[in-house]
Amino acid sequence: MRLFPRLLLNHLVVVTVTASMLLIVAELSAQPFIQHHVAQMMELIGTQGNHMRSDLTNGMRLTLTRALLAALPLALLVAVLTAWVAARRVTASVRHLQAGSRAIASGQYDRRLPEDGEDELTELARSFNTMAGALARVEQTRAELIGNVAHELRTPVAAVRGYAEAAQDGILPADKALAAIAREVAGMERLTHDLSLVSRVEGGRVELHLRSVPLGDLLRQAQDRFHLAFEDRGVTLEVERPAADVVVWVDAQRAQQVLANLLSNALKHTPAGGTVRVWAGVHGAEVTVAVADTGSGIAPEHLDRVFERFYRVDAARTPGEGSGVGLTIARGLARAMQGDLTATSVPGQGSTFRWTVPLSPAAA
Ligand code: ADP
Repeated sequence: MRLFPRLLLNHLVVVTVTASMLLIVAELSAQPFIQHHVAQMMELIGTQGNHMRSDLTNGMRLTLTRALLAALPLALLVAVLTAWVAARRVTASVRHLQAGSRAIASGQYDRRLPEDGEDELTELARSFNTMAGALARVEQTRAELIGNVAHELRTPVAAVRGYAEAAQDGILPADKALAAIAREVAGMERLTHDLSLVSRVEGGRVELHLRSVPLGDLLRQAQDRFHLAFEDRGVTLEVERPAADVVVWVDAQRAQQVLANLLSNALKHTPAGGTVRVWAGVHGAEVTVAVADTGSGIAPEHLDRVFERFYRVDAARTPGEGSGVGLTIARGLARAMQGDLTATSVPGQGSTFRWTVPLSPAAA
């Protein structure tokens, strides 16, 4: 049976049972009162009125029953109307919900339900709207992601094709073309690797091997890895080692990945003669590792967005440059290790990225 008739029927059953109970209880409970009043009357009238006793009792009972029976149809009518309105209201909300769910299922993520009222049905509509909003965002992200991946792949694929054609036409020697193709393919490999890491980081599916690691060791390894690249570019790398007892609770390999991303970005955006400084400060149960450069800086409107997937401040995407997922991965890894990654910057003067890391439980 459909919801509306079912609700109406339920209400009607309740109304009928209540009305019947009212009649029965009224009839039963009225009996002693009637007898009491008749007895009082008999006292007033005296013994000559004894023959009227049963007539009076029956008369009063009949009047009561008639009054109840006369009021009953009106009460039933009002009850039925109220039940009808209540059932309509519930059914209308459920219908809206049903239509909304169908719309969402067919891809209309902008569909919303009316939220007027304060009852549970309105709360349900509100939850539905929140869910629809979340789905719309997921859909937008999905569409953007496909667009971005296609965009990122278009350039290297076009380059590979260009080199291959150039080699076929004899414009470029085969060995040079092959070397260039290998470079482009390596770039695509990096991109697919980064993409799969982004999806794992964002889905909370990155496997971590957390253990106690002296922060000084992590910073020294990062410095060893990068000092040649910094020298080549004429940028000074200053690393202030923390005390030996500053031990953090991280996955060493993932932590290196975060540091490598921050250092390579700092190097990329700092001109020759500039400085990149790395230092650490302990606050309570965590350590903040700061990587500060004297580079181009990031304008305030871009600052928060640099952590978004594929976001690059310079929209003109230079082939061979990063794909804009480095900071997304770094922040995702930092958060997966119960820390965070934030940035501050003064455009034209430099940027500072702060990575917070929990201290090792033994050391904290
Ligand atoms: P990319 O692969 O482009 O380096 P990232 O996610 O690492 O991607 O960085 C996103 C954007 O943030 C970069 O394109 C760059 O514009 C900006 N950015 C990151 N680090 C710095 C920095 N130290 N100084 C200035 N801009 C930076």
